[in-house]
Amino acid sequence: MSQLNTIFSLDKVLNTNTDLNIEEKGILDIKYSGTVASTESDATMTGLVTRDGDYVLIELIINFKINSECSRCLKISKQEKEAYIDEKLYIKKDNDYDINFKEENIDIQPIISEKIIDSISLITLCMKDCNGLCVVCGKEQNSSICKHIEKNLKESPFSSLSELDL
Ligand SMILES: [Zn+2]
Ligand SMILES: [Zn+2]
Repeated sequence: MSQLNTIFSLDKVLNTNTDLNIEEKGILDIKYSGTVASTESDATMTGLVTRDGDYVLIELIINFKINSECSRCLKISKQEKEAYIDEKLYIKKDNDYDINFKEENIDIQPIISEKIIDSISLITLCMKDCNGLCVVCGKEQNSSICKHIEKNLKESPFSSLSELDL
């Protein structure tokens, strides 16, 4: 498997108003806040690049799989994601992605990175009510819940206080 190609020649799009069909497959490089791209299968990117007057329209759908670490218990869960690109870039104006249409090939990687990061949440939970990890021993608390707290209370010098009927 090779890296997902993000470099295209827009020669025909710019000069002959021919649409560019994009159909790419490959590895996406994602490392973001506990999330990495799955290496099990390739990401796919399909869509069109068209010119309309003084701007270029980039419309793409990217399908990819990620492995995300639960923010509480660190369990890895697999997710399928879809990111949409719908960008209008003016040929003669600067854009946020440093794409220069005077160059022979343009690299749309900055657009892809931004949309992919938008589609990944900063906080991932393996389930809505994940109990996270035990603060004492570090075991995940979803399949069973540790009982250290009770034990600690009994051993605590203040445990006798809890027996007082106040
Ligand atoms: Zn979890
Ligand atoms: Zn524990």
